[in-house]
Amino acid sequence: MIPSVLPTYNRAPLSFVKGEGSWMIEADGRRFLDLGAGIAVNVLGHANPALVAALTDQANKIWHVSNLYQIPEQQALADKLVEHSFADTVFFTNSGTEACELAVKMARKYWYEKGHPEKVEIIGFEGAFHGRSSAGIAAAGSEKMTKGFGPLLPGFRHLTWGDIAAVNDAIDARTAAVIIEPVQGEGGIRPIADEDLRELAHICKENDVLLILDEVQCGVARTGRLFAHEWAGITPDIMMVAKGIGGGFPLGAVLATEEAASGMVAGTHGSTYGGNPLGCAVGNAVMDVVATPAFLDDVNRKAGLFRQKLEGLVAAHPHVFEEVRGTGLMLGLKCYTPNVDVVRAGYDQEIATVPAADNVVRLLPPLTITDEEISEAVARLDKAAAQVAAQKD
Ligand SMILES: *Cc1c(COP(=O)(O)O)cnc(C)c1O
Repeated sequence: MIPSVLPTYNRAPLSFVKGEGSWMIEADGRRFLDLGAGIAVNVLGHANPALVAALTDQANKIWHVSNLYQIPEQQALADKLVEHSFADTVFFTNSGTEACELAVKMARKYWYEKGHPEKVEIIGFEGAFHGRSSAGIAAAGSEKMTKGFGPLLPGFRHLTWGDIAAVNDAIDARTAAVIIEPVQGEGGIRPIADEDLRELAHICKENDVLLILDEVQCGVARTGRLFAHEWAGITPDIMMVAKGIGGGFPLGAVLATEEAASGMVAGTHGSTYGGNPLGCAVGNAVMDVVATPAFLDDVNRKAGLFRQKLEGLVAAHPHVFEEVRGTGLMLGLKCYTPNVDVVRAGYDQEIATVPAADNVVRLLPPLTITDEEISEAVARLDKAAAQVAAQKD
């Protein structure tokens, strides 16, 4: 019999009933160190007092009005995002997938309005993840996501991850945009080198092609800059954000330059919930913390500490781990043993991690994780790795 919840997920047999900072408390009382943060979502940890206050204050005022009216919290958040990024304008969604939908529509509409209706094609990369809608799965292209779901949304093609030189050859008169995650998340914590991202931005500019960055997972201070592309010193035309921006409340956004957004006039796009007062109240509280130099400096400092300890962990378990990869607090352990074995052993040690493609275990802690918690995380991962190594023998 089919379960009452549609069985599309492989869930661990754990139910967390309470969260505190970097910790999740299981129904039976066990305390798990959370190195997944709801898949890079809970950037300020669980039950952060500033976020709880922002949400409950707003809940006591007004929850939902729709975009028929002005929404002051939405305006304030858009102003903050514009102030702290390349963007001139912002559209709010409830998820990363919806941000992908708009990014694709915006790029195509841009060229249509410029008198180039033939420019519809979007170039993406293998191993990408852009969400589970028809556009999202077409943009990512993998058979795992697309097979069986009927005709794919046309107008997407895919290049080998990291092969920036191939972009030059792939671009033709029909190319509207290139879409890329500066650090692939689901694909296995694979950062693109700064010089490659610079080269890609240059190629796009030279060829009149828009650059869409998917920073749904790597954005919002995760890499130690507010947005990951800042490390390369480039700016995109359009950027997708979600996950961390709501700190755990469903919220996403598309950020764009005035030029790239120029086709999106009144009536061309919309969302009932998108940019609702609750989500934006929380988003404002998140931005007030993460978009400060002191916070970003601390993320970078802790990232260095964590990475150094993880290098030691890998060296101590050469049959379990191959390498540490990633940037900032978006780290991955590339495994020799199946990554899911490491994740499961982690559960026994009361630490939560997230598997990714390419046999990687993702470590995406709350950005508020403390130095002591980083040491504790590595100690628990060490025990988990020993357990996996013992099972192997
Ligand atoms: C999670 C993710 C998405 C999809 O976001 P949802 O909120 O799950 O719809 C898109 N792109 C990237 C890079 C992601 O990590």
